[in-house]
Amino acid sequence: MATLEIRDLHVTVEADNATKEILKGVDLTVKQGETHAIMGPNGSGKSTLAYSLAGHPKYTITGGTVTLDGEDVLEMSVDERARAGLFLAMQYPVEVPGVSVSNFLRTSATAIRGEAPKLRTWVKEVREAMERLNMDPAFAERNVNEGFSGGEKKRHEILQLELLKPKMAILDETDSGLDVDALRVVSEGVNRVRETGEVGTLLITHYTRILRYIKPDFVHVFSAGRIVESGGAELADKLENEGYEVYAKLDGADT
Ligand code: ADP
Ligand code: MG
Ligand code: MG
Repeated sequence: MATLEIRDLHVTVEADNATKEILKGVDLTVKQGETHAIMGPNGSGKSTLAYSLAGHPKYTITGGTVTLDGEDVLEMSVDERARAGLFLAMQYPVEVPGVSVSNFLRTSATAIRGEAPKLRTWVKEVREAMERLNMDPAFAERNVNEGFSGGEKKRHEILQLELLKPKMAILDETDSGLDVDALRVVSEGVNRVRETGEVGTLLITHYTRILRYIKPDFVHVFSAGRIVESGGAELADKLENEGYEVYAKLDGADT
């Protein structure tokens, strides 16, 4: 059973010629098969946590540890993290000019599995996964994220998630900018992956809306760079009713 362990993680960024501490001691354990929601106001550092786990060079780890099955994630290159089973869907996914969705998926699968998937079964796998996500087959020939609508970007992320079968999936604001139909399709994809029991999911979100479709096992409130409260799914209901203001008053974060 894979376990992602984040211990007292501190992260800084350089902004306006100054070093700013964004993460101020994050502690979190996610086990394979569990779904954790991280919820918090804008600017509280949720995306910084996702980027730090992804190994983005802009974010400097100044303290703490991150391990996956005891292996030091922070020492791994971005590729090594993917091979170790970490999957990160970014709030603002980047364009990959000249690389089609279909090539991108096959290259990623090859890198992660250590060998190229058999072409015939792979083509079928991709086609079936795209059908489940209500995606036009022509989408596979488009360049990654080039001119994708918000909904297409998110469907593409869930397509990757379903095909690459990671141990730990970190989904940053997968719900943002989706209409109700797209939100349902995307949530169903996350739930399908979840039902395999083989993926731990960290669902980062500002809104409680997606949690009507994906019921988390644990909810964590993020405020001013750390987790300030943890609970079960009922904590999301409390947030829906009361908002984040009570936490902002505690530590002076902006909501
Ligand atoms: P959230 O995802 O919770 O909205 P972010 O992690 O995006 O929060 O941002 C947290 C804080 O860190 C904000 O004050 C933001 O301006 C700052 N920050 C994040 N990334 C950068 C960056 N690359 N450069 C400068 N400041 C950043
Ligand atoms: Mg600390
Ligand atoms: Mg964010």
